[in-house]
Amino acid sequence: MKQIAVIVAGIAGLAAARILRQSGFVTTLFEKSRGLGGRMATRRVEDLQFDHGAQYFTAKGPRFSAMVRQWGENGHADEWFDGAFVGSPGIKAPARAMAEGHTIVAGCQVAAIRKEEAGWSIYDPSGLVKTPGNGSFSAVILAVPAPQAAPLAASAGVDLLELAKVRYAPCWALMLAFSERLSLLDDRVKPQDDAIAWIARLQANLTANLTANLAGVARPKPLLSTLRRIGRANISNGPRTWRPANS
Ligand SMILES: Cc1cc2nc3c(=O)[nH]c(=O)nc-3n(C[C@H](O)[C@H](O)[C@H](O)COP(=O)(O)OP(=O)(O)OC[C@H]3O[C@@H](n4cnc5c(N)ncnc54)[C@H](O)[C@@H]3O)c2cc1C
Repeated sequence: MKQIAVIVAGIAGLAAARILRQSGFVTTLFEKSRGLGGRMATRRVEDLQFDHGAQYFTAKGPRFSAMVRQWGENGHADEWFDGAFVGSPGIKAPARAMAEGHTIVAGCQVAAIRKEEAGWSIYDPSGLVKTPGNGSFSAVILAVPAPQAAPLAASAGVDLLELAKVRYAPCWALMLAFSERLSLLDDRVKPQDDAIAWIARLQANLTANLTANLAGVARPKPLLSTLRRIGRANISNGPRTWRPANS
């Protein structure tokens, strides 16, 4: 049976691994974080819980809709509002459900991919990753974001020049907790303000019913108009030193 290495366990890698397994392949996922789900991320602060990456998802195609229905039946997801779904008890729950039964090598930052006699091998910064099947993968799937994919592909002797040029627009996710419920007009606000994409009161989201008095996650809009105001240099300086570009 063919062994395939899937580099990373974000939702894209997990989806690839799932389809490969259905087609009879054996997959091993390599992921640098200890957890799964990548940007489907949850942060816990004392007894508070913030889904600070993806907060909800929609399902448009029939196959994904069927999967979301299954997650709902198994308690991994809930409908939040009008066709928008959240993970239950957090956004990572669907990723965990997708990961069931897969071999996952967590805490492994892939540094290089090399072709050897028996097949493809995966290396981390300290050398060959010791896991069954490593060294004999017949294929490697890269499901990392573009900026990380290009150097990994280059280590395998594949130049993805167009990919290397891709730059992701940065954004900040604010996680704010208040001792009292704020009087927002709505639990989901898309302000007219160009710099803020979205504010959600997480306690209104079924996931976060567990977290009393938690309110407000804002995401500066990662669009060009916002970038003009914030500027890449400013955003990498961090919020303490942020100044609007025109101030
Ligand atoms: C603030 C924010 C809010 C968002 N809100 C929404 C939303 O409301 N709804 C929605 O649908 N989407 C939302 N998104 C987008 C969504 O989260 C992403 O599109 C999606 O999670 C990307 O999945 P992915 O598998 O492609 O990549 P990721 O989730 O980024 O997974 C990539 C994985 O690669 C791993 N990795 C990287 N390099 C290496 C390496 N060298 N070795 C090993 N592992 C490596 C990382 O640890 C990570 O787990 C949001 C994103 C952000 C940042």
